[in-house]
Amino acid sequence: MAELEGLHFGKSDFVLLDEVTMEQFLENLKLRFEEGRIYTFIGEVVVSVNPYRQMDIYGNDVIEAYRGRELYENPPHLYAVADAAYKAMKRRAKDTCIVISGESGAGKTEASKYIMQYIAAITNPSQRQEVESVKSVLLKSNCVLEAFGNAKTNRNDNSSRFGKYMDINFNFNGDPTGGHINNYLLEKSCYAVGDLKGVCSEDLLKSLHLNKDPTDYTYTSQGAVAMTVGTPHLYDRSHHRAVMSALKVIGFSQEEINSIYKILATILHLGNLKFENEAENVQLVGGDLVMHISELTGTEVESMRKALLYRTVATGGGEVIEKGHSEQEASYGREALAKALYERLFGWIVGRINSVIEVKNYNPALHGKNTVIGVLDIYGFEIFDNNSFEQFCINYCNEKLQQLFIELILRQEQDEYQREGITWQHIEYFNNQIIVDLVEQPHKGIISILDDACLTVGKVTDSACLDSMNDKLGHHPHFTSRKLTPTDKTMEFNRHFRIRHYAGDVMYSVEGFLDKNKDPLFQDFKRLMFNSSDPILKEMWPDGKLSITEVTKRPLTAATLFKNSIIALVDKLACKEPYYVRCVKPNEVKSPMLFDDARCQHQVAYLGLLENVHVRRAGFAYRQPYDRFLQRYKMTCEYTWPNHLMGSDREAVEAIVLQHNFEGDVAYGHTKLFVRTPRTLFTLEQERTALI
Ligand code: ADP
Ligand code: MG
Repeated sequence: MAELEGLHFGKSDFVLLDEVTMEQFLENLKLRFEEGRIYTFIGEVVVSVNPYRQMDIYGNDVIEAYRGRELYENPPHLYAVADAAYKAMKRRAKDTCIVISGESGAGKTEASKYIMQYIAAITNPSQRQEVESVKSVLLKSNCVLEAFGNAKTNRNDNSSRFGKYMDINFNFNGDPTGGHINNYLLEKSCYAVGDLKGVCSEDLLKSLHLNKDPTDYTYTSQGAVAMTVGTPHLYDRSHHRAVMSALKVIGFSQEEINSIYKILATILHLGNLKFENEAENVQLVGGDLVMHISELTGTEVESMRKALLYRTVATGGGEVIEKGHSEQEASYGREALAKALYERLFGWIVGRINSVIEVKNYNPALHGKNTVIGVLDIYGFEIFDNNSFEQFCINYCNEKLQQLFIELILRQEQDEYQREGITWQHIEYFNNQIIVDLVEQPHKGIISILDDACLTVGKVTDSACLDSMNDKLGHHPHFTSRKLTPTDKTMEFNRHFRIRHYAGDVMYSVEGFLDKNKDPLFQDFKRLMFNSSDPILKEMWPDGKLSITEVTKRPLTAATLFKNSIIALVDKLACKEPYYVRCVKPNEVKSPMLFDDARCQHQVAYLGLLENVHVRRAGFAYRQPYDRFLQRYKMTCEYTWPNHLMGSDREAVEAIVLQHNFEGDVAYGHTKLFVRTPRTLFTLEQERTALI
């Protein structure tokens, strides 16, 4: 039995803690980490601690040990969860999903790879080509998306921007037939453009007009790194080659790959554009750059120059006029264009990958029900010294996921009780709907207030927006705002608001919220790109089709787009049977030895792990099929050892329970024994250990 694999490794299920306290939780987590037991259950949830070293626990022998077995038969492992999800999908034709959360560097992406690898290993290795090709594209696409969607950050050499959701489709045989990827990017400012110079041929570089040293490009030089947190990722040659070859395997044509290069080069050139004021007018410095940019984007030089220096606006009377930028506006616009190019390139790549791996020619009548395993790799709660718009979005997402978690876990429990014929008991838990509403409610929620401020004509400042939040939300039990006295940290700006999240209080600085929420891209750029002679670039800018007088609606704000995508994600997950992996980063220095108590405590709190244990223990902490229970404990009872003379396994189990006076602590289901408190099991386990 996994839960009791040996006490010197600590408790392999947190449900078995004597008391659910932070202290005991951490003690157990630390003990196991130090013993090289990086996985621990909370019921069916796996808690994982990043080992920061190669572990010998992912081999084929281990895969075989977990294949088709029940969760509690083996020590805690990702494979146990992957197998449970796969089994539910295959045996019961259920759509399932595996939600992997944790902070940057906690091991989410590695976990998702091990899970994919497990699923690939246990599915039919038959000669069928299409199965193989789906598998290979799914695995290859990982490499491409990581190259384009990630940037090296201080916190993690290979951190995803925020989240990735991947559906794997299966046929009735349980073999993969296709997939779909959704990416959630937050920080548009992180470029993974990288050092093309180190990795491209001379000819290619020439055609891209990249003749400077990487350090001469603002977006690849150190200064930009500090500014955008990311350092170039396509930096090393072998990795770059792997990405390009992956693109080819996935099915990108040479034309498409060329267009990708051209867009990346355009972004680098844009970063070097400078503007200066000359006799009241803003001018471009260095004519060559604009020529290169227009050549690479398939646009007219004059149009490009104009779009960089002016914007066209429609007056109330339907008249169209040109308005010159200030120097600041011009730089701002240039920056926005570079970010948008990158973002749209990324979105387009994801779209292309999806078109390759989507399930084709699937006929349910012929092929049976198509089922899905979803794998979500997503940031957990984030709280830094200074929390901004990004943390606000991530934490809102986690509120949504927590709500889903509670709902689904409770539903799962309820379903099982019903199946087993056990009376349902109400479980007390904190319903965080009130916090979700605080953020997303129409007209009254924080996002709505932000959007209103962004739509207001004229200059609205971040702090005016905060005033408006105060007016509308001042009495909300989970919202407070106060003026902090200026300290070193908040000298420039001292306005914050605080949200009481389900996992704890987080203080947000409202500085920059409005800018980050607005779509800063001038329409002129959209039209320009849409009119590009490069069909691939054009395809990325369908919204540039509208002429200036036709554009009536404002583009959706970043917060609203984010909200919509999270609501869609939750809808997708809600109809699936969920499995969870919670990742913890043991320290900030990537050490395999160090368990930083304070850092871990922080994460345990913000991942809501104690709450997790509480929910799990609220009903019956523990359950086990009669035959297994009997097998395990029959030696502790005279009526069942060595063989029981009772009629059924259940009757034998009843005898064990009676002999130990546990009858008040258990319930008998149709096939399983339910045990309310872990202590009961512990007593049994101690007796058993004493006997063998
Ligand atoms: P996240 O996706 O949560 O940001 P990653 O999965 O990229 O984090 O993990 C960060 C790094 O930690 C990896 O590059 C790897 O070096 C190490 N790591 C994570 N999980 C494991 C593991 N199970 N075994 C060995 N090393 C790991
Ligand atoms: Mg990651």
